[in-house]
Amino acid sequence: MNGPESTSFEVKEAACRLAVLGIGSFEQHSYHLPLDTDFFFASEMSRKVAEALKAFYLHALPYSSSLAHKGFSGTVLLKPETVKRIIWDIAESVSDWGVRYLAVINFHGGNFILNPAIREWNMAGRLPRIMHIDYYRGLSDTGANLHAGEMETSMMLYLAPERVRFERAKDYVPPFGREDLTHFGMLGTSPTGVWGYPERATREKGERWFEEGVRYCRIRIGELMEKFDEMEGAQGP
Ligand SMILES: [Zn+2]
Repeated sequence: MNGPESTSFEVKEAACRLAVLGIGSFEQHSYHLPLDTDFFFASEMSRKVAEALKAFYLHALPYSSSLAHKGFSGTVLLKPETVKRIIWDIAESVSDWGVRYLAVINFHGGNFILNPAIREWNMAGRLPRIMHIDYYRGLSDTGANLHAGEMETSMMLYLAPERVRFERAKDYVPPFGREDLTHFGMLGTSPTGVWGYPERATREKGERWFEEGVRYCRIRIGELMEKFDEMEGAQGP
């Protein structure tokens, strides 16, 4: 696999058609998980996906659009337009050395900007074709676990248990819909920063969810590349 450890000449020689970019975040994850939880998952999972697809692995983005977590110490947020600029700049850079597909794997639910940003790019017919993949769509039975809940806590117990303060985990599901994060943010809906059931987390569940995520991203990227290839040269009515 080519990636940050490769030399420029190795990259040239490998001539990868596909590059994989995980999108993490730097935001509060309540009392029991670290600020870089999403970035940690983005790095681990995108590396595995890139390996399986013999793609170029890019370092995951450590910051993104964490507006809903404003007010919690430690949170660093990029404005949506900044996220769009970064994705576009990375796309232009990899296109320069021949990458035709860029898989953007999103690990943070607040990155709504990805959809219009990637749609605008693709509809302009630019290269590389960019794929927008939310890894959590591939996970089964995640229930009401929106943030720092059973799913994220389990995956961290599986990947790096020393990073979890499990004895401090506290279940909480706010009496709001997730759309109310737009109105009140996390601070106004869940003052402890949890949305879900972290106390139910186990290492075994984490392994299952992590592997489901890898599998989903791998298959989805394959399907999208096939469809893009098929459309190549095709014209509208
Ligand atoms: Zn998270």
